[in-house]
Amino acid sequence: MTERLYYKDSCLLQFESVITESVQTESGYAVVLERSAFYPTSGGQFHDTGRLNEIEVLDVTETEEGQVHHFTSAPVGQAGDKVVGRIDSQRRYDNCRKHTAQHILSHAFVELFEMETVSVHLGDQYASIELNNKSVTEEQLMQAEALANQLVSEAWPIRIRFENEEEAAKLPLRKMPARSGVIRIIQIGELEYSACGGTHCRNTSEVGTIKLVGTEKIRGNISVRFLSGRLARDDYFSRFEVTNRLATNLTCHYSDLEERFARTFEENKEIRKELNRLQAERMPRLAEELASKAGTAGRTSLLVESVDLANPKLLGQLAALAAENTGGIVILISDKRAALATAPGSGHHAGKLAGEFVKEFSLKGGGGEYQAQLVGVDLQELAAYRKIVEKQLDQS
Ligand SMILES: [Zn+2]
Repeated sequence: MTERLYYKDSCLLQFESVITESVQTESGYAVVLERSAFYPTSGGQFHDTGRLNEIEVLDVTETEEGQVHHFTSAPVGQAGDKVVGRIDSQRRYDNCRKHTAQHILSHAFVELFEMETVSVHLGDQYASIELNNKSVTEEQLMQAEALANQLVSEAWPIRIRFENEEEAAKLPLRKMPARSGVIRIIQIGELEYSACGGTHCRNTSEVGTIKLVGTEKIRGNISVRFLSGRLARDDYFSRFEVTNRLATNLTCHYSDLEERFARTFEENKEIRKELNRLQAERMPRLAEELASKAGTAGRTSLLVESVDLANPKLLGQLAALAAENTGGIVILISDKRAALATAPGSGHHAGKLAGEFVKEFSLKGGGGEYQAQLVGVDLQELAAYRKIVEKQLDQS
């Protein structure tokens, strides 16, 4: 069984060891060491990365027998060879902070609301705890976050203890582990005792900040996502950049952004309403102008034209009005949409015409006798569209 150096010291980033086994598996080269500070993926925490001699360590796993397998980008050596291991500090410290933040947060939810943590995920982007509860309120989240950050700022020392089952049973452990023998216990001040094999900070203040960033339902429970340490800081920096830029552009304080956004949104709605009203008012004149551009195909008046409308919902109405004016067929195109209209009494069917376009150009759409819609229209094909109509008129 590999001796795990991180069990006693989470800050040990360099160590010397000896290879006891060198294997080539389907996943690549792997070595087993007499002792190792590399943390293998387990208990919801991802493995460390780093180097063995100068060879990159890509993955670290553990076997059921407790052997730690170090997967490397190239062979490291043979059994009996000496190695120097170096752990990537940023990833290790990120993991320590996430893991410690998790203990603190789990403690806060139990302390305040008797919500137990039933599973843990300490991912690269964010970490999460699954609480044995169907739901959690905004108020509860805020309270748990506040207590967690208070515990962080109080800098409680974190102690690693090794106890036999009998001694461990006397401690207020969150959950007694299934395994027997010596039990590793992470103790935060006098507040929190958890049986855990992960890497943690030396005191709670190293966590920096804990920020809850969302919840989701999982297996009928509620999962709470959070950021801590560097990830929380980076998140704050990038959000600062965005809000600062917006506030500078709008010449206001960032705390006024919400109100400014709501006001602009309302104004925009009003302006759009007014624009639609004005455009609807202009419709008869616009229809006349368009009608004056109509040509003929055989004995039928035909107009195929692109128009720029602020309210695309008016496209069909405009086409119908223009068709009334010409007494023939009108096809108006705006932003990949087309409206087909035929004048009552013209003897032409808008829906059937649209069907020809659907067939010839793989467009989507359809309609009735006087009006039809098409989606996926390409303005470059205007001439080809006109030809289709002319062909239909020839056959009628
Ligand atoms: Zn832990």
